[in-house]
Amino acid sequence: MQYINIANEGVKSLSPYQAGKPIEELERELGIKNIVKLASNENPFGFPESAKQAIQKQLNDLTRYPDANGFELKQVIAQKFAVQPEQITLGNGSNDLLELIAHTFASEKDEIIYSQYAFIVYPLVTKAINAVSREIPAKNWGHDLDAFLQAINPNTKLIYIANPNNPTGNFLTEKEVDHFLAQVPEQVIVVLDEAYTEFTEEKERLNSFKLLQKYPNLIISRSLSKAYGLAGLRIGYAVSNPEIADLLNRVRQPFNCNVLALVSAVAVLQDDAFVEKVAENNRIEMARYEAFCQQHKLDYIQSKGNFITIDFKRPANEIYQALLYEGVIVRPIAGYGMPNHLRVSIGLPEENDKFFNALLKVLS
Ligand SMILES: *Cc1c(COP(=O)(O)O)cnc(C)c1O
Repeated sequence: MQYINIANEGVKSLSPYQAGKPIEELERELGIKNIVKLASNENPFGFPESAKQAIQKQLNDLTRYPDANGFELKQVIAQKFAVQPEQITLGNGSNDLLELIAHTFASEKDEIIYSQYAFIVYPLVTKAINAVSREIPAKNWGHDLDAFLQAINPNTKLIYIANPNNPTGNFLTEKEVDHFLAQVPEQVIVVLDEAYTEFTEEKERLNSFKLLQKYPNLIISRSLSKAYGLAGLRIGYAVSNPEIADLLNRVRQPFNCNVLALVSAVAVLQDDAFVEKVAENNRIEMARYEAFCQQHKLDYIQSKGNFITIDFKRPANEIYQALLYEGVIVRPIAGYGMPNHLRVSIGLPEENDKFFNALLKVLS
């Protein structure tokens, strides 16, 4: 018996998610030490001290189920962003939320719109529920929102937008997003995935929670995996109108967020100094990456995230492999239809130096 034959039609077309290579795996394979991983857009400063302390305090009490309503974390989010706790849905990472939203609003034959080169989880959840993918060709590697509008039809249920986008780093301004939302029919749900918003400059960052007041069909999704450094714990949140939040919370598994993730998120959302340090390092080091690429005539996509995607104009997999031997893990993105590019997460200065040196050696 081939069990794939009895899987739902969408699942039959799924391929396994290709995660960044773990440091331990490369250590085992090549027996090298001091490996630098710049492959999964993780926080180069490591786990925040504020969250560590919260976890220490909680370690004596892991016997009981977590608070299914995440009361305390919702209070902190509500206060920080001037929204109501009733607008919030907590997720086991924002990936969980992206999937939850699809389950809540779309089913077989419904259409879901997202961009070519957008976050790979959008096609993944679309296929998993056997909905219809409407992948819109990218414009300059980014979202072509006019083409999105033209693709909307009576079967359209959901639109995913990543801003900044992963893996390209493209960014849409508030004006562009606002202009777009004003033309989307209110029965179509728009998910604005802002996993990297903390890395954008304050003056250009979208005031997305304000957009919620104008657009009842909008859901903002945020992550604590990137700027906040909690990727290993899995926690994210969505903010929407209360009616949508209520629906998402009905579909959500009651204990999707674990106790340690909840207390860590409470701590780190109040730890502005940590996030500022992370964003500042990213700004400085991103400028170094851009200068490095310009100096060495490497094409790259302008990025507002904590990563940069470089175009080698030839299949990049051998460069990726050669970098592994130098102890540097970056991310091949052939799975996104970008076989000539590698995505590099912005690290600490010394990690980036190691990448620059390794890349020059590999290319020479
Ligand atoms: C990393 C990332 C996320 C966050 O995923 P988590 O599940 O919160 O770790 C969401 N969207 C995009 C575009 C991402 O790159």
